[in-house]
Amino acid sequence: MIKFLDLEKINNRFRVEIDTRIKTILDKGWYLQGDENKKFAQNFADYCGVKHAWGVANGLDALTLIIRAYGFGAGDEIIVPSNTYIASILAISQNGATPVLVEPDINTYNINPDLIEEKITPRTKAIMVVHLYGQAVQMEKIWQLAQKYKLKVIEDAAQGHGAEYRGRRTGNLSDAAGFSFYPGKNLGCLGDGGAVTTNDEELYNKIKALANYGSDVKYHNLYKGVNSRLDEIQAAVLDVKLKYLDADNQKRRQISEYYRQNIKNPLITLPQTYDEKAHVWHVFAVRTPERERFQKYLTDNGVQTLIHYPTPPHKQPAYTEWNTRSYPISEKIHSEIISLPISPVMTDTEIQQLVDIVNAYK
Ligand SMILES: *Cc1c(COP(=O)(O)O)cnc(C)c1O
Repeated sequence: MIKFLDLEKINNRFRVEIDTRIKTILDKGWYLQGDENKKFAQNFADYCGVKHAWGVANGLDALTLIIRAYGFGAGDEIIVPSNTYIASILAISQNGATPVLVEPDINTYNINPDLIEEKITPRTKAIMVVHLYGQAVQMEKIWQLAQKYKLKVIEDAAQGHGAEYRGRRTGNLSDAAGFSFYPGKNLGCLGDGGAVTTNDEELYNKIKALANYGSDVKYHNLYKGVNSRLDEIQAAVLDVKLKYLDADNQKRRQISEYYRQNIKNPLITLPQTYDEKAHVWHVFAVRTPERERFQKYLTDNGVQTLIHYPTPPHKQPAYTEWNTRSYPISEKIHSEIISLPISPVMTDTEIQQLVDIVNAYK
């Protein structure tokens, strides 16, 4: 069977290093807000090319805390792509602000920069871009709009660790970025984890305090904060895995290139990239008109697949107020998209088998 993502195999590559780091934590007996967090935050900030990074409990919290720290709430609007994972939108809703959905570009699956300006109102406070499936958003136009209308730009970088736009990595393409280290992400820990990156020192200090009960100094509460921390064990695991992220992303790029050169089936639309460095192939999403039939065919041939995502946010029961709206490009994507296995631990045999199976689909 070709697994969608063999997490056991992925993490077992680092077993010795991870065991050693966890042993050190057990020996020291310090589990939260310690040296491991400081070390990982510094290394992750350096990796992204930003001044500051800070670990939080998960990706949703990272985004929620950024919006909260900027003070965006009731009456404020934040622009976000209509085909994103629900967490990007929840981060806005949780703060009481209004998500304003903008359709994606059918070729990149990322927010269509040409459709943003018409959605800007006097209430608009920020544009949240999402590097969906691992491809960095083409930022130029978005930066220009942000400057023109004095908006903040926020990245949801949960799927884009290491992707580059014009020589800069995600996490360093905006005012502040939220990352997720959910196990299946390109940089994943052994449970939940997330981080915020920013060059804004004031924002960084505020997020650190907000995530720790609103406390700037121990037992002094500046804000009505929350508890959203990255465990020392998860920080240590991430610090080990960060060293291998570029190599893992490179392997994903090689597989993607092989798929894009060798999958030749008129029923399958392959994903595209505007620049090989821009994409880290968190997901290799193809489109096909009879998606359910294709998925069953792959299952019958021993290939595991996933759908990112089967239902667009505006059709979710949680957002009934949007259910009658129409976002035709998102709806087309959501009805046709299916993700093929791609991961740094796939073997050459599996890669070739997958190509052959997909090419034989009629
Ligand atoms: C995974 C993901 C998140 C949420 O991350 P968690 O760590 O699961 O909270 C947010 N946005 C996108 C695009 C994601 O893929």
